Amino acid sequence: MKNKNIDVIIIGGGPAGMSAALVLGRSRIDSLILNTENPRNLVTTHSHGFLTQDGVHPSDIFSIAKKQLEKYPSVVYRKEKALQVVKTPKGFKVITDSKEYESERLILATGHKDNVDQLGINGLEEVYGKSVYPCPFCDGFEMADRKLGVFGNAFSAPHFAKVIAHWSKDLIVFTNGEPLEEKRLITNLQLNGIEVIDKPIKELVSINGQLKEVVFQDGTSVEREGGFLSDTKSTASVDFAEKFEIPTVEGHFGLTFYEVDDNKETNVKGLYIIGDSRTGWSGIVGAAAEGSEVGAAITHQIIDERWKNH
Ligand SMILES: Cc1cc2nc3c(=O)[nH]c(=O)nc-3n(C[C@H](O)[C@H](O)[C@H](O)COP(=O)(O)OP(=O)(O)OC[C@H]3O[C@@H](n4cnc5c(N)ncnc54)[C@H](O)[C@@H]3O)c2cc1C
Repeated sequence: MKNKNIDVIIIGGGPAGMSAALVLGRSRIDSLILNTENPRNLVTTHSHGFLTQDGVHPSDIFSIAKKQLEKYPSVVYRKEKALQVVKTPKGFKVITDSKEYESERLILATGHKDNVDQLGINGLEEVYGKSVYPCPFCDGFEMADRKLGVFGNAFSAPHFAKVIAHWSKDLIVFTNGEPLEEKRLITNLQLNGIEVIDKPIKELVSINGQLKEVVFQDGTSVEREGGFLSDTKSTASVDFAEKFEIPTVEGHFGLTFYEVDDNKETNVKGLYIIGDSRTGWSGIVGAAAEGSEVGAAITHQIIDERWKNH
């Protein structure tokens, strides 16, 4: 099936994509959202830091967004997976398992996924998003002053511990068998009362997602109530941007960003990338802001084109 009237296709309906659709809908631009409804933060129970939605379940934020978009007749929402994106002479073709859609403009808002299974720590998936988290701004307040761990390699974990120590001084760095060799780091951690345990971890023991104990391969263990990961081994959810060979630049937290202009448009005309899929980590407010910005930018571009045509 081919569509006739889609100005913009948005792949991904997290805060980035839904926010773009909202602005496009309010601008009466015909847009289609394709979404598999599997946002990055679905593993957690409460989302924080989004003004008016602080502490709300991620699914509830999504449901409210979807409901509010129903008001806009130019926005079509489909729970469908984009399998392939092809450049056409006039724009883009998006192929799903049952349909093909075409438009002049395409927004990639497909997010990132975390691959914590690759960290090789038994029991980590059970606590991820429940008592062990990636982001202190998202969950540090709730974990403040508790018995925490920072899990990661011998380079990233000590640096991240400096940040996490702001929320709790009862902190142990676990490097899971990697010895910490940099003397300055060791001294600084000691000066700030942070212990380092570099023994290989056998497993994390938890009840209903709440971390209780870190057990080491030598049979010893230490009590912990939660913690943070210095690296979640996250990767792009899909390789669409990679296949277009969009140039990258160095972004914050040592992350790699896709290069875009002020309109969030890539070097491929009509292709925009926003949210985690652009930055690796935008947070909900950042992703929603980028969605809002791209919606307004595209509206201005379309206004310009239509004005010239009259
Ligand atoms: C454990 C955890 C806790 C977090 N807590 C917070 C918090 O408290 N506050 C905060 O601000 N941030 C938090 N974050 C970060 C936040 O989840 C992300 O920064 C935010 O969701 C990024 O929004 P996005 O729209 O770019 O991507 P996402 O929200 O990940 O949305 C991407 C969407 O694209 C869809 N999609 C992917 N591929 C396809 C495809 N091929 N076809 C169709 N659809 C597709 C997915 O199903 C998904 O719905 C947390 C993250 C994690 C992992």
